[in-house]
Amino acid sequence: MTEIVQTEPRAARDGAAAPVPLRQLVGGRWVSGAGAELVDRNPARPDELVAVGRLAGRDDLDAAVAAAAAAFPGWAAMPFPVRGEILARAADVLVGKADAWGVELAREEGKTRAESVGEVRRAAEILRFFAAEGLRPVGEVFASARPGEQIQVLHRPVGVVAVVTPFNFPIGIPAWKIAPALAYGNTVVWKPASTVPLLAMRLAEALVAAGLPDGVLSLLIGPGSVGAALVEHPGVDRVSFTGSTAVGRDLIARCGRLARPIQTEMGGKNAAAVLADANLDLAVDEVVAGAFRSTGQKCTATSRLIVTDRVAGEFLALLVERVTALRVGDPLDADVQMGPLITATARDDVRAAVEQGLRRPGVTLLVGGEPYRDARRADGAFLAPTVVELAGDDPLWREELFGPVLAVRRARDDAHALELVNDSAFGLSAAVFTDDLRAITAATQTLDVGVLHINSETAGADPHVPFGGAKQSGFGPKEQGRAAREFYTTTTTVYLRA
Ligand code: NAD
Repeated sequence: MTEIVQTEPRAARDGAAAPVPLRQLVGGRWVSGAGAELVDRNPARPDELVAVGRLAGRDDLDAAVAAAAAAFPGWAAMPFPVRGEILARAADVLVGKADAWGVELAREEGKTRAESVGEVRRAAEILRFFAAEGLRPVGEVFASARPGEQIQVLHRPVGVVAVVTPFNFPIGIPAWKIAPALAYGNTVVWKPASTVPLLAMRLAEALVAAGLPDGVLSLLIGPGSVGAALVEHPGVDRVSFTGSTAVGRDLIARCGRLARPIQTEMGGKNAAAVLADANLDLAVDEVVAGAFRSTGQKCTATSRLIVTDRVAGEFLALLVERVTALRVGDPLDADVQMGPLITATARDDVRAAVEQGLRRPGVTLLVGGEPYRDARRADGAFLAPTVVELAGDDPLWREELFGPVLAVRRARDDAHALELVNDSAFGLSAAVFTDDLRAITAATQTLDVGVLHINSETAGADPHVPFGGAKQSGFGPKEQGRAAREFYTTTTTVYLRA
């Protein structure tokens, strides 16, 4: 049975500091929001306040967009390498603060300290990558069939970019949108998830400390309604959104009516397929990491597992043993491997979906479920890591739960396993465990996903390569790496006869 770790008394605990006062960044000034009170709680210990302040209101939004529009010409005119230097200095700030802000991230969002510190460092890497973009080619030159003419393709900034981000990577995902937006010369108005306001403030603080001019970035910590108003604001030129498919589709429709370009990264139901020849020890390590790191709250988390029949019995026995041994508890405790969900409501929703599933025919609990009794004894938003086996199609196979729940199906053979990977409305990431070149080739050519891992977990997004999903997981140009340029710039084709 999964153990819910009892942790030391609150007063003695690392990081249990007084709540941080929250501020919005509007036009270069740190201000109190004009909206309702905001209380940011530690999901592992809901009576512990991480930060307190006020949400942004409509006036803050108008002021932020006006400041972004006013700052745009000066920022766009600044030489690209000089903009890059500011991003690089912000990266230095993040690295210097990685341990302290990592603890805050763990307290605010609930992932383990190692993952949290790693995320702050990753945000710094992303800033560095885009800082260096200014030293690389920024356009193309083509030959012309007409004598004396040259054709240039220029990539120019687009203006004011609205950035709306989810809770689950409170500094990593904002960095991978804000860094390219700024690097390519745009100004940004950013609305993070209101459950993770402190890390949002930290990223903005790093950029301000690095010398970002006033108005180039505004931070509006607000509810979804502020996000909707921002996305439709007449002063916004483009929208970059990451979050659930339901919200993403709504924003795509709103932007469609305005003919406003939008890029969305949305939900996932990512499959790992363990084929007949797989290295089962490697596969079980990777599947457990993919499914339960960050409490399964990654867009790229492994939430479906397909095992080819020949190895299913052996693999599932290994998996159950490993999942049973996972230590769940306060993410700041050194031996804890999985923290809480983001809120008690999220925990209850995921738990209810599993409990309903277990009442349907063909749904069998392999591990988890029962330890909910332990989870109830703890006051945090904990849920035991859960694995269910499905005899066939089921809502647990189709719907994203965004929690530590893995749904398993057995495949007749390897070809059937790959078919089942594609059996989803989502197409963010997948993992295939095999050393068979034919199977690898089939996977790379037929799986309809944005990110494919061969012999590694479904999660992972390096800053220098494209990231984004297929089908209902993504819409518009990809993010990160050089792919980001497509969304954050507009091209002008110049026929030049001098
Ligand atoms: P969410 O969709 O509830 O919220 C995302 C952001 O949108 C938040 O800032 C929220 O306040 C805002 N928002 C909510 N309603 C809005 C509205 N009507 N108009 C404008 N903005 C609105 O998502 P979440 O719970 O924060 O994050 C989890 C979801 O994000 C999961 O579905 C996960 O798969 C997805 N996600 C996807 C990726 C990816 O890269 N594909 C990465 C991380 C998370």
